[in-house]
Amino acid sequence: MLIIKPAATLEWLTPDALKVIERAGRVCYKSEDKITGASAEKFVAGILARGHEAVIEHASASFRLITDRGLTHEIVRHRLASYCQESTRYCNYSADKFAAQIAVIEPPDLDAAQQAIWRDACAGAEKAYFALLAAGTAPQIARAVLPTCLKTELVMTANFREWRHFLKLRLADGAHPQIRELARQIAMILSAECPAVFGEF
Ligand SMILES: Cc1cc2nc3c(=O)[nH]c(=O)nc-3n(C[C@H](O)[C@H](O)[C@H](O)COP(=O)(O)OP(=O)(O)OC[C@H]3O[C@@H](n4cnc5c(N)ncnc54)[C@H](O)[C@@H]3O)c2cc1C
Repeated sequence: MLIIKPAATLEWLTPDALKVIERAGRVCYKSEDKITGASAEKFVAGILARGHEAVIEHASASFRLITDRGLTHEIVRHRLASYCQESTRYCNYSADKFAAQIAVIEPPDLDAAQQAIWRDACAGAEKAYFALLAAGTAPQIARAVLPTCLKTELVMTANFREWRHFLKLRLADGAHPQIRELARQIAMILSAECPAVFGEF
């Protein structure tokens, strides 16, 4: 059983995103003549200050997220994004490419005793999964015994408006600590890439 860390990495971001947004947004005012090499940032800041968020839908970002199955149930509730996710139907974790083991994400804030209980539970689930496979059960059925903390990977694509919405909800105090951590990593990347849109996060 492999224990791995959750991670968010940027796969793709609209090239020259601010300029793309400015070119689209200035159609509203027919003010394309005001476009200069440095005008996009101010234009986008003004658009956002007026709450005209539809304009930032013209730029998108894709992230590769490594987290657990429990968390991805929450992530995929965001309906205005697109997803591709590692499938426990099609992946057989007894295969060589998975080093014949399951991978899990450790829950946060466990003390040593709690961590031992969690490890035992994961090891038991792994043993049962491999026993079912050895008995001829298909991976898509054997997955029934895999734990919620099973590592999974997904690529999530959304436009900038949806990413702002995601970050507002998932950085908030009431959100699950693991999704807050993932959202924090996403926010750091997006605010470095595009501070005019994501600087507030
Ligand atoms: C702290 C927290 C606790 C939660 N607890 C639970 C829980 O206990 N149980 C549970 O089931 N879920 C829970 N959720 C999930 C929550 O109900 C939403 O499904 C999830 O946060 C996605 O939010 P959203 O619908 O605003 O976003 P998205 O689906 O990303 O949509 C973005 C926005 O588009 C608009 N939109 C999208 N679809 C429609 C539509 N069909 N009609 C009208 N407008 C639409 C809305 O303005 C929406 O805010 C929780 C979420 C959070 C953040």
